[in-house]
Amino acid sequence: MSPVTMNYIGRFAPTPSGPLHLGSLAAALGSWLDARAVGGRWLLRIEDIDPPRCPPGADDTIRRQLAAFGLEWDGEARYQSRRGDAYQAALERLIDIGMAYPCGCSRQEWQRYGHYPGWCRETPRHPERPQAWRLRGDLGINPVIWNDRLFGEQRFDPTALGDVVLKRKDGLWAYQLAVVVDDADQGVTDIVRGFDLLDNTPWQRQLQAALGYPEPRYLHLPLILGDDGQKLSKQNLAPPIPQDSDSARPLLHQALQLLDQQPAESLRLASVEEQLAEALDNWAPASLTATPTRAGSLV
Ligand code: GLU
Repeated sequence: MSPVTMNYIGRFAPTPSGPLHLGSLAAALGSWLDARAVGGRWLLRIEDIDPPRCPPGADDTIRRQLAAFGLEWDGEARYQSRRGDAYQAALERLIDIGMAYPCGCSRQEWQRYGHYPGWCRETPRHPERPQAWRLRGDLGINPVIWNDRLFGEQRFDPTALGDVVLKRKDGLWAYQLAVVVDDADQGVTDIVRGFDLLDNTPWQRQLQAALGYPEPRYLHLPLILGDDGQKLSKQNLAPPIPQDSDSARPLLHQALQLLDQQPAESLRLASVEEQLAEALDNWAPASLTATPTRAGSLV
């Protein structure tokens, strides 16, 4: 195992919109391995900012699923639903520096442009309507450049992305602001998550820069496809992973293969502790391949 690196803090940040499936397990596992292989801390943050999307009890299911796979987190899990004051303070800072503005435009009005064209940047067009708050992407860092540990140098022109929503018209917080505030507040140094979130990173980098937060390292993990060639997700009915550690064994073996590990066949039914110990010894993020993996081909 690599020497202990005390300054590594990683996290798994699921939206509790349902139980974890193989795709979300691979993200949790990759992030856990990356942290634990260097003796780092690993946090669990429940991103429950959108209550209508989060059935009651889904968070407990996720906690039981992680425990069944031996993915223990440090300290208490954080719940974003309790963090409104911190998000409000960050929004107010952005407003003070002219980086956030109210907007009452409806999606229908702007969708033919592909992204919101920034009509309300100087003056709200529809002050009589409920207002969302948007980021002034045109005033943020540009281009946004970062070095992904797997996908290499990334370069985005934020003006092509549109001004992202920070707080919704209905008063709910948006993912982009909440994730950045909590990653900074929790001292997260390393973000390891699925490839599907890579294109959210430019807004997050702009927000980090605007709020004076440090830049975390990023490792986006290879995309995992279902039998239909689409991203494995609840939408294409990826089945929930089990909540007991006996049934977890063969799925952990499979998830490790999705992370380009080659666990011995004899470990397929080994305890999750034994499989994880072996995986920690073999964790080599530098040799991950960036191409999508098909989950179905491994079953
Ligand atoms: N909550 C987000 C999701 O479940 C992930 C957040 C992140 O890892 O940045 O898709």
